[in-house]
Amino acid sequence: MRIIIGGVPLRKDELWQAALSSIHRLERIDKGDVLSSRPLPLMPKQYYASVAQIEQRNLFGAAMKAQAYAALSATTPLEPFELQRRDVRPSDVLIEILYCGVCHSDIHQARGEWGNSVYPMVPGHEIVGRVAKVGGSAKKFSVGDLVGVGCMVDSCRACPSCKGGEEQYCGGHLSLTYNSTEQDQKTPTHGGYSSHIVVDESFVLRVDPKLDLRAVAPLLCAGITTYSPLKHWKIGEGHKVGVLGLGGLGHMAVKFAVAFGAEVTVISTSRSKEADARRLGAHHFLLSTEQDQVAKASCRFDFVLDTVSGSHDLNAVLGMIKLNGNLVLVGVPTEAPPIHPFSIIMPRRSVSGSAIGGIRETQEMLDFCASRDIVSDVEMIRMSQINEAYERVLKGDVRYRFVIDVAAR
Ligand SMILES: [Zn+2]
Ligand SMILES: [Zn+2]
Repeated sequence: MRIIIGGVPLRKDELWQAALSSIHRLERIDKGDVLSSRPLPLMPKQYYASVAQIEQRNLFGAAMKAQAYAALSATTPLEPFELQRRDVRPSDVLIEILYCGVCHSDIHQARGEWGNSVYPMVPGHEIVGRVAKVGGSAKKFSVGDLVGVGCMVDSCRACPSCKGGEEQYCGGHLSLTYNSTEQDQKTPTHGGYSSHIVVDESFVLRVDPKLDLRAVAPLLCAGITTYSPLKHWKIGEGHKVGVLGLGGLGHMAVKFAVAFGAEVTVISTSRSKEADARRLGAHHFLLSTEQDQVAKASCRFDFVLDTVSGSHDLNAVLGMIKLNGNLVLVGVPTEAPPIHPFSIIMPRRSVSGSAIGGIRETQEMLDFCASRDIVSDVEMIRMSQINEAYERVLKGDVRYRFVIDVAAR
């Protein structure tokens, strides 16, 4: 077999396979056909169109192999994995990943705890990197720019949520960064525990180089997950805010709520968190295992952000919220917590939830962080330490987010 595309002779079957999967009209072409970017006299016309598509789609970038860590099953540790990234389409950017945060949801999904896991799975949705290549029609970024990618890499772009800039609530198909599929609903997506990723520029964020890039990574999930509800409920000066749980999400909630001017109380079951809560800017600390402290806080808060993913009593938390106040859940306990109707009837209180933020709001959050010098508190690891890091996350033994230095060996 000898194939010539754009004047470059190709012999490898894998490139041919890449061509077959990328170019929809290639099913008309048999192995052994000779293609050329220059029309050959005897070549049927549709072959020329295919050649044009091949060149336009930059097929020769298709051989991009990324070095990753993947879960191959729910019960085995993550292990080194070679990943084929898609070719850079006209509106794509190729990103060389520098850092990737380790989110608790990575562990849930790698271990099949949400019942929707597909293997092999390369987790990671707190990605910071450098643009290595831009597609022909991509306008937002240049090679060398510092960028971020969060929990989603595409959406239907046509539903009311997408049109309103809240792609995270897409009513069509939302392409999550990993353990999901591209808009064709077939091609699996793989995340940031990886040397490279290819993403449509519409889902790529600008990162200010003046920030500590390692500590920017967790902003892409933990940051926006806490920033978005505080903005949505217009939290600011004059509000009493409770932050339930001081982990990866909670520590960012404290930083944002303080930056917005609220009076912030960390509510925790662990006395050992008090010093850190105050260092992060919290004005008060409430030990929720002490009944008298909980009783004294009756009807105190305008707003409580619940970041806890373990089982806990929501009725007790609701008791600390005042008339017309809100309890907003961003943590996901494995068992659904019961809520007594009286907990929300007397006085009138609301329970809501919130998921990450849209692309526009995520950029706003990153810009806000740059203007106020806000980043996450992180502990750095190498990719090969990921399994150990998972165990430590499960024990709550991290201040406050692990971040993989992707290039470190
Ligand atoms: Zn996350
Ligand atoms: Zn949509």
